[in-house]
Amino acid sequence: MAKQERDFYQRDPEDQAAFLEQTWCNNCLEVDLGMVDPVEYEQDGTIMIEGKCKKCGESVITELADEEDDSEWID
Ligand SMILES: [Zn+2]
Repeated sequence: MAKQERDFYQRDPEDQAAFLEQTWCNNCLEVDLGMVDPVEYEQDGTIMIEGKCKKCGESVITELADEEDDSEWID
């Protein structure tokens, strides 16, 4: 299924800040290093926020549950 772009910047500033802080980097193997250049999109019904790790610059992706589920984190 094709990616459908969403506008990350439509979110509340508080949400934006939280998503930019609450990250998992597969390269650093650390949580909450933060990301820059976030891009939000939906793929196969899952909301993704993709950015770059603040520490190493590798791509980091945060997956969100469907927004109707009150944006619970997916493990
Ligand atoms: Zn990293």
